[in-house]
Amino acid sequence: MGEFELIRRYFSPLAGQSRAGSLVLGPGDDCAIERVASGHELVFSVDTLVEGVHFPAGYDPEHLGWRSLAVAASDLAAMGAQPVCFTLALTLPEASPEWLDPFSRGLSRASRAFGLELAGGDTTRGPLTLSLQVHGEVPSGAALLRTGAEAGDFLCVSGTLGAAGAALDYLDSVSPSEDERAVLERYHAPVPRLNLGIALRGVASAAIDISDGLLADLGHILEASGVGADLDCQAMPVSSAVTRLKGQAEALRLALEAGDDYELCVAIPPALWKELPEAVRTQLSIVGKVVSESGITGIEGSLVAGGYDHFGSK
Ligand code: ADP
Ligand code: MG
Repeated sequence: MGEFELIRRYFSPLAGQSRAGSLVLGPGDDCAIERVASGHELVFSVDTLVEGVHFPAGYDPEHLGWRSLAVAASDLAAMGAQPVCFTLALTLPEASPEWLDPFSRGLSRASRAFGLELAGGDTTRGPLTLSLQVHGEVPSGAALLRTGAEAGDFLCVSGTLGAAGAALDYLDSVSPSEDERAVLERYHAPVPRLNLGIALRGVASAAIDISDGLLADLGHILEASGVGADLDCQAMPVSSAVTRLKGQAEALRLALEAGDDYELCVAIPPALWKELPEAVRTQLSIVGKVVSESGITGIEGSLVAGGYDHFGSK
């Protein structure tokens, strides 16, 4: 199968399966064309996934298809952006239908679920590597940034934390238990908090998605905003499946330090928190507050603020 046959068969069908309107021209020409509505800004980001680094060698291609777009879309969620389209740069060792079929199926499901239409890409031969660029849009000036958290703001996280990190121990389970299946699902099929990000426009003073662990990613907000945090570990939304599998202390450690959950961490001024619709508030837990002194307090001494740093010494 040649490059163009491969694109036609597996990827062209993913074009045109999103909101009509924003994508003027999809795959097939030298560039794609996107219409940016007046009064709006284009928000974009690229993520690269390398086999053996960001996902295990031999990882299930259908999960990889979903996960690679989910991970990229999570950055749009953190900015409060409405998803529009994405490009896919795919480097493959060989054009095997046994891999491409399930991969494009997972990618296609994610594309429809997140409202991200395939706009184009690049296909080359080499060690398995995926780069996905996602495009979203926000009303001008409305994007959520890492800067802007102020002393007194509530620190909130969405959903529960730690399950994707716990799942790493069960990736090779032959017959996983119900709890193991629950945490594996969080690793294989993360759901970016796109609607929550949009609902927090004009409300969150700062936002980030949790890809490398709460302490690490919160650290980015604190540094960018020039503030610190006082956390309440009792209030941490620890996954109940993880607590049953690993015990309370380890579940808390995973909630603070493990990556891959793709929940949001946001700062919200108390006055705006009170005005949030119930349906938005119930997606969030208040886990502490922003303080003016730098650093993070409120975590047990045994927990080292780490998270995952690709070039760190950990
Ligand atoms: P060029 O040589 O002009 O860079 P390519 O030959 O790389 O163009 O690609 C031809 C067309 O196919 C382009 O419109 C490109 O966006 C699209 N394309 C290539 N690879 C992919 C892919 N993996 N998914 C979607 N579209 C792709
Ligand atoms: Mg090319």
